[in-house]
Amino acid sequence: MKCVECGLCRTKCPVFRATMKETASPRAKGMLLNREMNEKLFFFCTLCGMHEQECPYCADLQILKQREKLVKSGATLSRARQIVDNIKEHGHPFTL
Ligand code: SF4
Ligand code: SF4
Repeated sequence: MKCVECGLCRTKCPVFRATMKETASPRAKGMLLNREMNEKLFFFCTLCGMHEQECPYCADLQILKQREKLVKSGATLSRARQIVDNIKEHGHPFTL
């Protein structure tokens, strides 16, 4: 089912709770489905799935699918890229 943008799931989303930013909420991700992709927004997610438990409409925000699409298209956050580069170069994720 489609997200009706009610915002009820925001109370369980750890990213929204930490930032209190609507742009980081599950609702914002639901609004962006089928619209222009906002890379940063889909990376602001722990993939915990808590919004699914709270959603009275069982909306499918396709968050994992969207993240997969982004990664396959080569998109990533610079910090994540740094971690991968560090592992390749030093065998651990830390910047020396
Ligand atoms: S999966 Fe992402 S959007 Fe959903 S509750 Fe967890 S952090 Fe929030
Ligand atoms: S995912 Fe469900 S609870 Fe969250 S805004 Fe959409 S319809 Fe509402």
